[in-house]
Amino acid sequence: MTKRRFLLAVLCAVLAGVAPASAQPAPKEKLPVVASFSIIGDLVRQVGGNRVSVTTIVGPDSDAHVYQTSPVDGRKIAEARIIFVNGLDFEGWLQRLIDATKNHGLLVPLGNGVKARSHEEGVDPHAWQDVANAKIYVEEIRDGLARVDPDGAEIYEENARAYIDELKALDEEIVKTVNAIPQARRRVVSTHDAFGYFSARYGIVFLAPQGVSTESEPSAKDIARIIDDVRDNKVPAVFLENVSDPRLAKRIAAETGARLGGTLYSDTLSDAKGDGATYIDMMRHNVKELEKALAP
Ligand SMILES: [Zn+2]
Repeated sequence: MTKRRFLLAVLCAVLAGVAPASAQPAPKEKLPVVASFSIIGDLVRQVGGNRVSVTTIVGPDSDAHVYQTSPVDGRKIAEARIIFVNGLDFEGWLQRLIDATKNHGLLVPLGNGVKARSHEEGVDPHAWQDVANAKIYVEEIRDGLARVDPDGAEIYEENARAYIDELKALDEEIVKTVNAIPQARRRVVSTHDAFGYFSARYGIVFLAPQGVSTESEPSAKDIARIIDDVRDNKVPAVFLENVSDPRLAKRIAAETGARLGGTLYSDTLSDAKGDGATYIDMMRHNVKELEKALAP
């Protein structure tokens, strides 16, 4: 055996010892699970591995604040053994869908487990923007799956533990990156107010002409106020969002001379080909865009 072959064999043995979720034997029948939107869908896949079959109601690049349900969604709800949703008034269309489906699985609202931020319009639903909250979501997903599928409890436990380690590393990475940005430049504009939790945890101030929901349009007064704010505080960058119309951000940048940053993933993942196809990728992408635009 050559040295290289030997090393390869050792590496394989090591990898076999810490089997990733995909290497765990799949049960004959996967547990049918519904997630209300793409970010929760990814978290459930990370914990459920190949024991679960996850269906997402609001898919990538779509806005879960406002969503038109269809009979197909009712069928998805009816077939699921467990349904994970954000709650905190995020999915306003959900209750009617649940009420219309007589027999449905266990409903688990994940956002209820975190310390919710309040906002002048009510509660801020975007808890996932703080990685510490995503860890809480993962623990609740683990417990929910184990409740409806006790045979998989150990696997869910193992997957959740491994994924939480990744989330801890992600959290540290974000803290480090933001800390390297000069304090005076940590101020940006987004279209809707989706980054309150991110802001509180990581220390970048977000201004937004639109509120915590995308349901209502910002008024001329809201926009004028933001434009004044950007000028007065020399806000360096205005960001686009993958759930918002880009015209408003472009207008604010043009009127104030602030730099137009990239697109942030606020409320949804990108499609599989994009650079925000998973929760971790999405957070990493956002931080990279912020770092790029806020560099002095
Ligand atoms: Zn939102």
